[in-house]
Amino acid sequence: LFSLDTPTRWAHANKLLAGLHHADFETLKAQFIIELFAQGKVLFDVNDEVDQVFFPLSGMVSLMTVLRNGDAVETASIGREGVVGAMAGLGLHKSHVRAVVQLDSRFGRLSAVQFRKAVSGSPAILSLCIRYNEILLSQARISAACNLAHAVKARFCRWLLQAHDRAESDTLPLTQEFLSEMLGVRRTSITDVAMKMQDAGAISYSRGVIKIIAPDKLRDASCECYETMREEAPG
Ligand SMILES: [Zn+2]
Repeated sequence: LFSLDTPTRWAHANKLLAGLHHADFETLKAQFIIELFAQGKVLFDVNDEVDQVFFPLSGMVSLMTVLRNGDAVETASIGREGVVGAMAGLGLHKSHVRAVVQLDSRFGRLSAVQFRKAVSGSPAILSLCIRYNEILLSQARISAACNLAHAVKARFCRWLLQAHDRAESDTLPLTQEFLSEMLGVRRTSITDVAMKMQDAGAISYSRGVIKIIAPDKLRDASCECYETMREEAPG
């Protein structure tokens, strides 16, 4: 994707960072450790101390709300338009959510201690934390309404479109089991919907890989939440 000797280009891949003034951008970039994590990696779990802040440079992370029986449902997703763990900059130490890498992702990572220093030294970085937290709250609100009010097919299409935008590729390595967990529905429902969308020519599905063939067909079948979340995201 990027070569190791161009950290500036890497960092610019994150839209929040790219929107900062030079001095603030350099402050954060100087602390970055660039890391690649594979699908399934848990960045932090519920009640974990948030001691690292992750700026995605590619890929996608889901924030999951975990119930006492162990079921987990996605309440927000973060790509390179966002940041994972920024609340640590505002003094939050323990996570209320599980942050899971959903598509192989590259990050600029820095310690929460360093991030707090940067926040206290820059009103722009502080405002970035506050604004982005509002966006996450808004995503959580929309997700709650979507999960309750919209049909599985519409939600399936919404989720695939979001993953497609983040992946910057038409091929998504996603199993039906994974999708059923993500959307909080039974696996048979996902199989039904995937077959319908395949018959409609929107996707093709085989052995844990979904290929997006006609995104416009997914948009037609998706609920409004895809557009709403996109409008509220920065960049
Ligand atoms: Zn919806």
